[in-house]
Amino acid sequence: MSKIRILDDDVISKIAAGEVIERPASVVKELVENSIDANSTNINIEIENGGITYIKVSDDGSGIEKDDVEIAFLRHTTSKIQNENDLYNIKTLGFRGEALASIAAVSKVEMITKTNKDIIGTRILVEGGEIIEKTECGSPNGTTIVVRELFFNTPVRLKFLKTPSREAMYVTETVQNLALSNENISFKYKNNGKLVLATKGDGILLNVIISLFGKQVKDNLLEVLYEEDCIKVRGYIGNNALGKSNRNFEFLFVNGRYVKNKIINSAIENVYKSYSTGDKFPFYVIKLEIDPQIIDVNVHPTKAEVKFQNEQQVYKIVYKAIQNAFQTINTIPQITFTP
Ligand code: ADP
Ligand code: MG
Repeated sequence: MSKIRILDDDVISKIAAGEVIERPASVVKELVENSIDANSTNINIEIENGGITYIKVSDDGSGIEKDDVEIAFLRHTTSKIQNENDLYNIKTLGFRGEALASIAAVSKVEMITKTNKDIIGTRILVEGGEIIEKTECGSPNGTTIVVRELFFNTPVRLKFLKTPSREAMYVTETVQNLALSNENISFKYKNNGKLVLATKGDGILLNVIISLFGKQVKDNLLEVLYEEDCIKVRGYIGNNALGKSNRNFEFLFVNGRYVKNKIINSAIENVYKSYSTGDKFPFYVIKLEIDPQIIDVNVHPTKAEVKFQNEQQVYKIVYKAIQNAFQTINTIPQITFTP
């Protein structure tokens, strides 16, 4: 008998789920990204017990049509791309069609959804990848998803989670990143019934920063606004007074996606060094807008990294953008008052 076997579907889907869903924060990220892709203007997130037993994400977005509800939970099903060409011009946060299937494979999911074309909504229950129930249900326009008992059928994964308060911290970081990258969406986030974060969704990045980090940061922020070769750099960087002892306040977004990128990071830090004292790290929220054709967002399964075709060019442009922000401040003429 051959030693090499094809794995059965249940095992395959659990392995696949492991690639995307590592912890409650990954569930929140995937669900909220779906809400963003559905053009929502209000997104509410609630977790209990660090998200391990309960995560709820509700939105006022497009909703899912009744006939599509089951399909959405299958692996590799997406409404966002159709063919290979689309892969090189991705404008949505999702495109792999893996998240709902992965989440449902390792938890108990309840979804209620309604499009604005329908009068009545649909409710579906999926547990461990199996559809348990699908019924009609009254619902506002949009989608609400509740994820209960994450990893109930993968005990080893469950064991590897940290304490609920640590998992809640990861969720909070995730929600912060999503709120910062979407200043036009109003976010509300509750942990164990307590409001942690709320943003207005008025389209003003500075207001999101103030909602998250307090009014006091405002006076120590420099605005970054620069464009070259169709690469737009905008956002805020803190001055010396806002210097940090770690990199926890470095927020970088490329085309609306929170990413980590060493090239851009070192461009920002290198400029910052020359305008700050001591070994401090900057506080920054920097957003790059760049032609999707010259970046690859496909390098990482959770899409936390991007690759640029021309890294030197991106470095140079970001460097100049940050330098401009500091120089503008330094060239403000000193006014001396004579009594
Ligand atoms: P992807 O986001 O990569 O397309 P997902 O598994 O996350 O894959 O979602 C599958 C599909 O379900 C999406 O393409 C979308 O059509 C639909 N969907 C999921 N969540 C929502 C939502 N909150 N609002 C509207 N449609 C949604
Ligand atoms: Mg998705």
